[in-house]
Amino acid sequence: MADMRCDKCRFWNPNDGEVGECRRFPPRLDKNLYSNADLPKGTDGFFGWFVRTDGGDWCGEFQPISQKSFSTIGQLAERYHQPEWKVRRVVDSLSSEIPRAGKYRMVPNDLLPAIEAKLHNSAPGEEGKS
Ligand code: SF4
Repeated sequence: MADMRCDKCRFWNPNDGEVGECRRFPPRLDKNLYSNADLPKGTDGFFGWFVRTDGGDWCGEFQPISQKSFSTIGQLAERYHQPEWKVRRVVDSLSSEIPRAGKYRMVPNDLLPAIEAKLHNSAPGEEGKS
């Protein structure tokens, strides 16, 4: 399969562009992963973590982004390295009905090409607007 890599997989949640978390499966618990000093305040010593991968990695669970699935505004902002307000504005400008789960817009991933195109064609000087 061409382009079978984590950064093209529907389960990949990018952290900094090069490295991300695989969200194919629920987080795993590992109380030994962090020292007590590293644990978030109020935790009981157990901490969930997702497998971290490089964008160029892959595995047999790969599924392309184009398959029907959803992304939140925050996930799209991370994927495209854009501020959330800008992604939200683009998503709200689409003619498609965007389903919600509580306060979150669940953006169908088949809209990603249109969103990406609009983000790249947006007017300069919009940085910092909220
Ligand atoms: S290719 Fe495999 S490891 Fe990478 S994000 Fe997809 S499911 Fe996870």
